[in-house]
Amino acid sequence: MNAVPPPSASQIAALAGLLPNGGLLTEAADLARYSRDWSGDHYGRPLAVARPSSVEEVSALMRFCHAERIPVVPQGGLTGLVGAAVATDGGEIVISLERMNRIRSISPIDFAMVVEAGCILEDAKRAAEASDCLLPITFGAQGSCRIGGNVATNAGGFNVLRYGMTRDLVLGLEVVLADGRIWNGLKVLRKDNRGYDLKQIFIGSEGTLGIVTAAALKLFPKPTQIETALVGLRSVEDAMALYARARRDCSDLLTAFELILRVGIEITMREGQGFADPLGQPYPVYVLIEVSSGGLINLSSMLLGFLGSVEDIVEDGVIASSRAQGERLWLYREIMVERQGRGGRYLRTDVSVPISRLADFVSDALVALEKSRPDALAVTYGHVGDGNIHLNVVPPEGMGADEIEHLFEEAEAEIFTVVDRYGGSISAEHGIGRVKQKAFLERIDPVTLDLAAGIKDAFDPRHILSNGRILAPAAALDYR
Ligand SMILES: Cc1cc2nc3c(=O)[nH]c(=O)nc-3n(C[C@H](O)[C@H](O)[C@H](O)COP(=O)(O)OP(=O)(O)OC[C@H]3O[C@@H](n4cnc5c(N)ncnc54)[C@H](O)[C@@H]3O)c2cc1C
Repeated sequence: MNAVPPPSASQIAALAGLLPNGGLLTEAADLARYSRDWSGDHYGRPLAVARPSSVEEVSALMRFCHAERIPVVPQGGLTGLVGAAVATDGGEIVISLERMNRIRSISPIDFAMVVEAGCILEDAKRAAEASDCLLPITFGAQGSCRIGGNVATNAGGFNVLRYGMTRDLVLGLEVVLADGRIWNGLKVLRKDNRGYDLKQIFIGSEGTLGIVTAAALKLFPKPTQIETALVGLRSVEDAMALYARARRDCSDLLTAFELILRVGIEITMREGQGFADPLGQPYPVYVLIEVSSGGLINLSSMLLGFLGSVEDIVEDGVIASSRAQGERLWLYREIMVERQGRGGRYLRTDVSVPISRLADFVSDALVALEKSRPDALAVTYGHVGDGNIHLNVVPPEGMGADEIEHLFEEAEAEIFTVVDRYGGSISAEHGIGRVKQKAFLERIDPVTLDLAAGIKDAFDPRHILSNGRILAPAAALDYR
């Protein structure tokens, strides 16, 4: 439900005047591609799609929308998984940043790049590589998601354990505020202690506080060596013991540590073409390990030595002998992620608990799920080096839509109850959006809620920006 009335035909015409060269789309056929997200679970036809091509156009657009109280929602690559970037059906204007996709600058000396919000993550990574640098944000959706979306969701990925989340990688931002003012915080300074660090408030704000138009991002030296191994283990407990040893013995060269339970490997073997059992025989738990470094270290012998030293934990393993083989090992994870739902809906969770408690958490959560919904398939994997685990739930084939909805509610409640018991987070990665809002608001303490509502009022007093995401839908404040 949206508290702000939709725009009139004359307002839409005025908006078109602010966005020359086809910057405003209103035809049904043109709107389709901005109406459904990657998962296919969330649909909402926008009233129009605004495609500004400069920060000045975003500013003019927002100034008008603020004055006229027109609700908007910023959109990147639509790969977010909590239904936040899709318009409220027939009630909002989508602001797509896709035409603002330039790399404004790259400085290998500052180890920084300035990128417009509509740049696809993979394009930004390629541009960094061309300057012998690494933009570390890496995950399955990198070919579609955009920098603005990454900032707005505080995206993580495979190598957070070494480089941190997007929050750790943003040096500065350029943001258009709800009233159209441009906040220029686009700096590449490593150290700056002047007052409040305002950029942090926009990171992870899911489009509710401002429109990110550009970001200054930290770069790193491009690794010249990458080694990948897949190992089989007896239990998640052993996987976490291996993690502790890998962290110590591989030091900061450890770039990824991805847990996959057997069921995930079976999904890839079933759904991918030519994917045999990777270690010849099945193991209950697998871990993908990646280490990377510059040229002066003998990385392959370090990884070999490390795996030799953990034979008491590891049952079996394979080290990729080439980059191509390493990438094929990663496909066991990627294919599982894409095909786990067999083309239908499934429950996604992205929870976290303290790393030291992860094995017990997984065990308890799977027991609880099995007890309450033995008919469902639990698919478990995650960036466990960050304490982050996906416990997804796939309904049995042929189940009706209402039954699926009921299954998801029941399964999510079971999982979140265990998360609460372990002092964890119900959203470690994807954010709150609309999908996790109820569970989020049920758990938020009054002081945090009060502060959050105050921040929203300060940044967007008329509640025109992504109304009803994270916090409950609110009407515009009367006194402004
Ligand atoms: C296969 C797959 C794997 C994934 N793996 C990971 C992972 O490992 N780690 C992880 O963190 N996420 C992961 N995700 C989730 C998703 O890719 C990220 O959340 C991504 O950062 C979203 O970017 P986007 O451009 O697609 O944003 P969208 O989906 O378009 O939008 C997401 C949110 O950002 C807001 N937004 C978009 N652009 C702007 C802007 N310019 N200014 C202000 N707000 C804006 C939207 O309003 C919305 O609230 C995965 C998704 C998929 C499909």
